[in-house]
Amino acid sequence: MPEEDVEYECVVCGSRIKFSTIEARGGYIRCPNQYCRSRILRKVRPLRMKHVRCD
Ligand SMILES: [Zn+2]
Repeated sequence: MPEEDVEYECVVCGSRIKFSTIEARGGYIRCPNQYCRSRILRKVRPLRMKHVRCD
């Protein structure tokens, strides 16, 4: 289980792709939208909430 599955969002069309998917494709970062094919992706914060410790 990956410690952090970061998601990337295409700045052109807004399509999202997970880093694990990018890795499976050989680390080749590119928009998953076949009509867009942008190579400019930005990191999206993981959906899950961060737990804050309260001692
Ligand atoms: Zn795109």
